[in-house]
Amino acid sequence: MNLLLAAKIVWASGVIGWYLIRIPFERKVKRERVVDVRDRLRETVLLMCSTCGLGIVPLLWATSRVFNFANYPYSWVQFALGTAVFIFSLWLFRRTHKDLGKNWSVTLEIKDSHKLITGGVYRHVRHPMYSAFFLWALAQLILIPNWIAGPAGFIGFGILFAFRVGREEAMMLDTFGKEYQDYMARTARVVPGIY
Ligand code: SAH
Repeated sequence: MNLLLAAKIVWASGVIGWYLIRIPFERKVKRERVVDVRDRLRETVLLMCSTCGLGIVPLLWATSRVFNFANYPYSWVQFALGTAVFIFSLWLFRRTHKDLGKNWSVTLEIKDSHKLITGGVYRHVRHPMYSAFFLWALAQLILIPNWIAGPAGFIGFGILFAFRVGREEAMMLDTFGKEYQDYMARTARVVPGIY
């Protein structure tokens, strides 16, 4: 099979896999009562940036010729590595959903029965779901041999992360006080022991 076609199939399967992991949690959190919402409009704009970089730009690359001018030569090594990172990101994504459970939300929210999670993958970093998204962006960068569609995920999700993470931590500090402060003191944000 043509290697580029294989890359497109892997990318599309990754997106579908990601969505299948997320659907049951979307159902579950619908029943929760929300007691605090932060910056909903701003957060929605940030989500659009992320969706554009991780979804729309690579979709355009996969289904049209608009970005073909920025294609570069591809190799099996790149394909295999990109696929492996994608699988790892989906695995981590699933773990973070399982650990966070009903406390998860798309934008910044606190639930009526919100619990601070510090176990499972949350023991190593305090934003493992964002680590999973960065791994997805890395997989996209390696998997897609195009100077625009490859890095688009990093840019899109990077914008969301940069403008969100401080506000999310402020919200968690307002809600959980010293408990979150202690948790912050013993964890990194997205890369264990580094950042
Ligand atoms: N930043 C986390 C969670 C992303 S989902 C991660 O990357 O894994 C975003 C929501 O998760 C926020 O609205 C916040 O209410 C909630 N949240 C973030 N960290 C949490 C934690 N340690 N325990 C419980 N809820 C958390």
